[in-house]
Order: sequence, then C-alpha cells, then structure tokens
Amino acid sequence: MDLNYSPEETAFRDDVRAWLAANLPADVRGKMINYEALSKDDLLRWHRILADKGWVAPEWPVEWGGTQWTVVERYIFEEEQGYAACPPLVPFGLRMCAPVLFRFGTEAQKKRFLPRIFRGDDFWCQGYSEPGSGSDLASLKTRAVRDGDHYVVTGQKIWTTMAHHADWIFCLVRTDPGREKRQEGISFLLIDMRSPGITVRPIILMDGGHDVNEVFFDEVRVPVENLVHEEGKGWAVAKYLLGYERMGTGRIGQSKRELQTLKEVAARQMKDGRPIMDDPRFRDRLTRVEVELMALEITNLRFLDQLRGGRPPGADVSLLKIKGTEIQQTISELMMQAVGPFAQAFRPVDNMDFDHFTARLAARYCNIRKATIYAGSNEIQRNIIAKLTLGL
Ligand SMILES: Cc1cc2nc3c(=O)[nH]c(=O)nc-3n(C[C@H](O)[C@H](O)[C@H](O)COP(=O)(O)OP(=O)(O)OC[C@H]3O[C@@H](n4cnc5c(N)ncnc54)[C@H](O)[C@@H]3O)c2cc1C
Repeated sequence: MDLNYSPEETAFRDDVRAWLAANLPADVRGKMINYEALSKDDLLRWHRILADKGWVAPEWPVEWGGTQWTVVERYIFEEEQGYAACPPLVPFGLRMCAPVLFRFGTEAQKKRFLPRIFRGDDFWCQGYSEPGSGSDLASLKTRAVRDGDHYVVTGQKIWTTMAHHADWIFCLVRTDPGREKRQEGISFLLIDMRSPGITVRPIILMDGGHDVNEVFFDEVRVPVENLVHEEGKGWAVAKYLLGYERMGTGRIGQSKRELQTLKEVAARQMKDGRPIMDDPRFRDRLTRVEVELMALEITNLRFLDQLRGGRPPGADVSLLKIKGTEIQQTISELMMQAVGPFAQAFRPVDNMDFDHFTARLAARYCNIRKATIYAGSNEIQRNIIAKLTLGL
C-alpha cells in the first residue's frame, strides 16, 4: 500500500490550502482557534463561501453540485479544512438529510430541498432523540396521526443541536403504535420549524454554551408530501442516515492541528524549571495520542476507499466515531495539563493572545465531553462492533 500522495494529489492539496488561506474569514478562524462559540452567521458565511466556489458538497452527485473528487481528494479537502481552522460545515442538511433524499426522496422532494441545502438557504436540525429514547431510539413516542393530507405530530425531541437556528427538522415519528416490533411503524418526516405548535427550549451545556435544545410538538400539521420513503419504513431511513452521521465524527484534520498547537504550548510552558514537554509521562501520553491519530487517519482512508467502491457506510464506521472522539478528548485533557493553572474556567480576558487561548481551555475540556455521547454513545458503538465481528 502506498500511503504517499501522488504529484497530482500534492498539487491539489497545495491549491486547496492556498484557497482556504485566502478565503477563510480571519474573525471566524480566530474563533475556531480560540474555541469560541460560532454564531449562525459565522457558520452560514463559511457555508456560502464554499457553495459559491462549488466545494460545499463534494460527495453529492455531480448533477446536484458534487465535485467528482476522488476519495483521496475528498479526504485531503477535509483534512486541509481542519488544519486551516475552518468551521465545521453543519452536517444536518448537507451530510444527513441530503444523502437520505438522494436514496429515498421523491423527485419533487429532491428539487425542493437539495438546492436550498446546497446554497445554505435552509438550516436543518435532527429530531431523533427523545427523553428516554436515545440509545434505545426504537422506543420513541412522538406520534404522527394521519388526518386527510396531513400528519398531526405531538411529542417531544431532546438534545436537538441548533434547533434554535433551524428552518427545518427531519424527524422520526411513530405512525403506527400497534406494531409488535418497535422498529416498525416509525416514519421519517420533514417538518417546517415555523409550523404552528412547535416550541424550542434551550439546554445550556456545562461550558455555558447554547448548542442543544428541547423541541416540543403540539398538534403540528405536516403535509403528507413531507413523508420520506414509505409510511412505517422510517427505521430503514434512520439507520441509513446514522452511518453518514458517524462518518463525520473523526475530525482528523482538526485533531492534527490541535496536536501541533499542543506541542507548541508544551514546549513553552514550564514545570519545575523545565518545559512540560520534557516530562516523560506527558511525552508518553502525547506520543500515544499521536500514534493513535496516525492509525485513525489510515483507517479513515480505508473507509473512503469503500465509499469509492459504492458501499454505503456500515456498522464498521463506528470505529471512526470511537477513536476520533477519544482522541479529541485526550488532546483537550493534555492541553489542560500543559497549561496547568492558566486553564481557568470563565476567566475574564480582553484580547486574542495566548492568554485568551488558555482561558478557553477549561470550557473546551467541558464541551468536548459531549463527543463520546452524541451521534450514538461510544458504548453503543462498541456494541455495534461486537455484533458485527462476533455476530452476537
Ligand atoms: C451535545 C449533544 C448533541 C446532540 N445532538 C443531537 C441531535 O441534534 N439530534 C438528536 O436526535 N440527538 C442528539 N443528541 C442525542 C444523542 O444522540 C444521545 O444523547 C445519545 O444517543 C445517548 O442517548 P441518551 O442521552 O438518551 O442516553 P442513554 O441512552 O440513556 O444512555 C445513558 C448511558 O448508558 C449507556 N448505555 C445505554 N444503553 C446501553 C447499552 N445497551 N449498552 C451499553 N451502554 C449503554 C450510554 O452509553 C450512556 O453512557 C445529542 C447529544 C449530545 C450530548
């Protein structure tokens, strides 16, 4: 196996790198580097810059705006964005709803929603989890009752990321509670967030940030044309989508940039008169995480190669989710260890220098705890791998 880039791929990487450096707004980059919250405007600005360039949805079919890049080029693009400190593209429309519409949507649904997702006209969120129905998603209770050419939806979703910004939500709802098998009788609906009867309530996370919400549906009327796939077949759609959700959780480029920053910080932070980098235990942990990151990178290339062969992401993508998120958490822990008392939660700061960066580290440490929970907790991912490899 040749793990080096070809001359053409190297030239592609250089082009991408130069373009990102010239086009990523400096204020957005500053927020990314300093782990500051991004506004809806920050996210949409970057989305639209990429859309104008034609790079916002590389993996989409070319007739809908995809780039026809090879898997290696797509990987390079991802990695370069992480290195350059680009904001993550909000995945709910581009990487979750869109693949579902390509696979299960009607022509009318594709024409209506995909161009708007591409341009960033509609902001989407994901309505899967409910109180008591997270890992055990098939127990979900939100009801959708058919009434003429509408469904009437009543129930509650929780942990809905960016629902407070969203124009649309894709939802799993129960259309037939009488089915013996819980996975049957679930349907996949696209719901306009401006519909009467929807209430969004914020959940503040332990870093003080507002990313997630509760969403309440009180007899919300949804046109039947917003049903994706057949009524009662929503579980198949949900499972298809979850594979794509996990593909995006590795964040390898970002981890590589953070690891580089960590090395720089550890080289200048002193402990007992020596840089913390000289501490053998610190070095040991740092080296381990670097090796794991390299292994993850190679694993990721293998998955991309499967996608190139036309195989949709399957249960084995769980590996990427587990390792990628564990690495993100380890780097945040080591960053805290490196700066010691300078990483103080909510310390007031007034500029964007090194102090500002260190002051955000405690909040970042708290925030990134979520990574091993969202997109299906890592314990659940391990169960999936066990079933896959042991056939349990
Ligand atoms: C920051 C954040 C953002 C999120 N965004 C969204 C979103 O946009 N849309 C959405 O629909 N959901 C979202 N979620 C919800 C997320 O998918 C769920 O939190 C997750 O699936 C876990 O479900 P739960 O919270 O109900 O915990 P539970 O399922 O109650 O699990 C509690 C604990 O028990 C463990 N556990 C449960 N079952 C098993 C088992 N069978 N074997 C081993 N261990 C088990 C879990 O790993 C976990 O540690 C988000 C969550 C977070 C934290």
